[in-house]
Amino acid sequence: MKPVIGITCRHFVGAGCDEYRLAARYIEAVEKAGGIPLVLPAVNNRALSPASICQGLLFSGGGDPEPGLYGEEEHPRLGSVDRDRDYWEIHLVRRAVRQKIAVFGICRGLQVINVALGGTLYQDLPAQAGIYGHSQDRPAEKVSHRVWLEEGTLLHKIMKRKRIWTNSLHHQAVKEVAPGLVVSARTADGVVEALELPGDSFFLSVQWHPERLAYPGARKLFTAFVKNAAGFVSC
Ligand code: MN
Repeated sequence: MKPVIGITCRHFVGAGCDEYRLAARYIEAVEKAGGIPLVLPAVNNRALSPASICQGLLFSGGGDPEPGLYGEEEHPRLGSVDRDRDYWEIHLVRRAVRQKIAVFGICRGLQVINVALGGTLYQDLPAQAGIYGHSQDRPAEKVSHRVWLEEGTLLHKIMKRKRIWTNSLHHQAVKEVAPGLVVSARTADGVVEALELPGDSFFLSVQWHPERLAYPGARKLFTAFVKNAAGFVSC
């Protein structure tokens, strides 16, 4: 049986436009890895959400989590915020931990996981930490920085490398790591690039965008995630 992988998406409201949106690459990556992709919009009735039939949850990229969620005022460099999505995803993260559902977080996904479990963020890395170089100008398919992996972590076991090249498309980053989470990768400047929750179920998040990278190694994360999701059944 292929596992159903729920993928969170953004709610885009613009001029004459009110839509749920998800980059097609997430769908393709889950499908290629052997999962059944299911797009999960933020819904009002959580009990009736399609998330309840998912064996794995993929927290996708997007805007910035609301800083009030980790006790901070808004910084002028804060990007776009979607509170409904924040609350919905935080609910899903906590439920996934309780029910041991496989979790994979990407970019904003890593950040929202950290916030959901009690961590904090830099609202803008250049302005608040004086760290540059994480918001690449080149296309997302190109790599732009190296990431050092911690030996013995789930990420290291999957990638089987001490260093990897990744893309980098974020202006926010983890400040304080949430209790229970383990940093499994950083860049040379100390920025957290991967977080995981040790335990029985697959729970990994990365700050880069593996779904945009074409080299074979980048797909290993999706394969490991979907394979592990197949071994667990949600309620
Ligand atoms: Mn980065």
